[in-house]
Amino acid sequence: MAKKNNRNEPCCMFCGRPESQVPFLFSGLQDAHICSDCIINAADYLKSARETYEPEEGRIAKLRKPKEIKEFLDQYVIGQDRAKKLLSVAVYNHYKRINHNLVDKPDDGVELEKSNILLVGPTGTGKTLMAKSIAKLLDVPFTIVDATVLTQAGYVGEDVESLLSRLLQEADYNLQKAERGIVFIDEIDKIARKGDNPSITRDVSGEGVQQALLKLLEGSVVNVPPQGGRKHPEQEFIHVNTQNILFICGGAFEGIESRIAQRLNTQVIGFGSNERSKIDKRNLLKYVSAEDLRAYGLIPEIIGRLPIVTYLDHLDRASLLRILTEPKNALLKQYEKSFELDGMKLIIEDGVKELIVDTAIKNKLGARGLRSICEKIFDDAMFEAPSSRKKTFTVDLEYARKHLADEINTM
Ligand code: ADP
Repeated sequence: MAKKNNRNEPCCMFCGRPESQVPFLFSGLQDAHICSDCIINAADYLKSARETYEPEEGRIAKLRKPKEIKEFLDQYVIGQDRAKKLLSVAVYNHYKRINHNLVDKPDDGVELEKSNILLVGPTGTGKTLMAKSIAKLLDVPFTIVDATVLTQAGYVGEDVESLLSRLLQEADYNLQKAERGIVFIDEIDKIARKGDNPSITRDVSGEGVQQALLKLLEGSVVNVPPQGGRKHPEQEFIHVNTQNILFICGGAFEGIESRIAQRLNTQVIGFGSNERSKIDKRNLLKYVSAEDLRAYGLIPEIIGRLPIVTYLDHLDRASLLRILTEPKNALLKQYEKSFELDGMKLIIEDGVKELIVDTAIKNKLGARGLRSICEKIFDDAMFEAPSSRKKTFTVDLEYARKHLADEINTM
């Protein structure tokens, strides 16, 4: 292809058109030219070719090592070291397994099984936050569902498949992406079987849902109605393979401590008092076992599909104080930023943070309560600040107490 036409005009060396007939002509070394149309066409082709042929498509591009995952979690989640560590390893192993395609092509016959995770811990201690943060780090679709809204197919409520519809939505209906996503199932303890004995008559809200969830957790191809909602026979389904979807379940399992204590007591009878004194009675959750979960009402098959079980600690006063200020998007940092955007510096005087935390503790809301308490303190100020000419806004103890009067008086 000539570099110039007979009018001495430079031409695109791909389509042959002269500079006057193309939107833009790029020049390279030795008088080589390419027009903007050919660049766009080539880029489109590359993109589609990659989608079709590139063997790495579907890999988790940003796979991080467990230590890196933990360091990332440390920026958002205060305390909960044991859970963060375990979760980091589990997530790393899960996505490593996908990336190496061990499921489809185990080269030595060793097939790594999927390891879904169960987080046991009081409400508001960071279970959802942890799962959310991991999804953010890995840049995979993530959805949260509340187990209490799920029902067995055919009953009032949402079918379990609806959680996959939501994951698909999160993935912009990119099936391949959705099939590598993370689903956080909250309040899994609320679908525990009532009573310790396997019932002959199945209870709809509990065991039936567990049975339905089992199918998803163990990895199977599930027919999902694209827009969520109920299944209709004439509807077209999306076939979602759940084999590589990571399920993280969370639950408070209120009262499970007494079962753990009972079990531990029986176990240590016969041993010296030494063994008994080694038990950390203030944090019995750390001893939670499959046996306790079964006694609580999870069916053994579900427990089998949640091989990684870890616990979260109660958040004490010191942790709540740290939560207010330390995480990357800590509540008080958010308020400071919000005032800053109005050109104002927020000054929080001594004692205010402690008052916020003590109020949250007394309300028994843990970290979950911190935001609403802060809102009460700052809402008047946030109403005034944008129209104010002041350069600083100071919240002292008196101001905070005044705004929390209702809370404090009812304590
Ligand atoms: P749950 O354990 O009930 O899932 P969440 O993770 O939803 O609790 O926590 C509720 C809110 O409380 C979070 O959005 C976060 O702001 C705060 N929070 C709870 N635990 C922690 C923690 N360990 N570190 C930092 N923030 C936390």
